[in-house]
Amino acid sequence: MNVPFMDLRAQYAGIKHEIEPAVLGVLERAEYVLGPAVESFERDFAAYCDCDHAVAVNSGTSALHLALLAAGVGRGDEVITVSATFVATVAAVLYTGATPVLVDVDPVTLAMDVEQCAVAITPRTRAILPVHLHGLPADLGPLVELAAAHGIPLIEDAAQAHGATYQGRKVGSFGSMGCFSFYPGKNLGACGEGGAVTTSDPDLARKLRMLRDWGSERKYHHEVQGFNYRMEGVQGAVLGVKLRHLDGWTASRQRAAGIYLDELRASGLGLPSTPADRTHVYHIFGARLPQRDAVQRRLAEAGIQTGIHYPVPVHLQPAYRDDVRVLGDLPATVRAFDELLSLPLFPEITPEQISYVCEHVRKSI
Ligand SMILES: *Cc1c(COP(=O)(O)O)cnc(C)c1O
Repeated sequence: MNVPFMDLRAQYAGIKHEIEPAVLGVLERAEYVLGPAVESFERDFAAYCDCDHAVAVNSGTSALHLALLAAGVGRGDEVITVSATFVATVAAVLYTGATPVLVDVDPVTLAMDVEQCAVAITPRTRAILPVHLHGLPADLGPLVELAAAHGIPLIEDAAQAHGATYQGRKVGSFGSMGCFSFYPGKNLGACGEGGAVTTSDPDLARKLRMLRDWGSERKYHHEVQGFNYRMEGVQGAVLGVKLRHLDGWTASRQRAAGIYLDELRASGLGLPSTPADRTHVYHIFGARLPQRDAVQRRLAEAGIQTGIHYPVPVHLQPAYRDDVRVLGDLPATVRAFDELLSLPLFPEITPEQISYVCEHVRKSI
């Protein structure tokens, strides 16, 4: 048996009959950049995230960059975030000229350690940027309180967590802004690059719309220095169709994760665990094994493709280590990133494929 890590072709085959007419419509009407399909997706995605506004951009990285700028982050400021993330979170802070201050994570949920975050706050802190890693929301209640007590904006990196909830409410609606990626492999993926910032603050929404389109509301009249971060019409059409399927795909991911959890419970592996006040949307199913690399090799020999998200935390990456400030040596982050192995999980994976993976995981440890 062969088990791929994910299968975007299987997903496309299931919705081809809906995607193709939507995309052809955009092409025929020549609505190449922004336009009605993007606006309609923005309305639907804002409602989906329990927010008043969504501003569509050309990647998750652009979403983070613009959210930080809209919050007023710039040179000389500090932004508290985590090293346990994809580099884009930290890179977006550097784009603004601010210094990323990296704190450790909870060893079980892998989400920003709230006490460490409190310790890292200084008079220069201009934003707190937690990450909903692998699709599990960070501990948003205490983070919202902490940010409010200090008058610091909270910005969520929700790039891996479309539709995940904390105390019944969707991520992206807790901070002053939420940042999403629609990279093809994400839980909601474009046929190319894409991203969005969600907010319920009309002034922030207006700033974000200006910043993504050269800082102008009226063509060729520039109020602020902005960027070309606009979403393409084709991506808006694709995402509008796919958003209608997202809850179904998430339920399939959760069912698959449930089978993994049942079949591996007795194996002694560290498995993802979801606090009772949150839902996990399993962008990644990360199991923890001290002998991770050997197990990965054995699984590959059995035709099972796995991933590592991520092999090196950001504060140890050569490109970033000299430009970040780190609170301590982040033992929970370093240990988790040495042990995490991402098992195959995508909406179309079959129970037979999952059982095959579990059988080989049990044999390999
Ligand atoms: C994917 C991702 C991003 C960046 O999104 P792009 O669309 O690839 O630019 C940012 N943060 C996290 C946590 C991600 O997983």
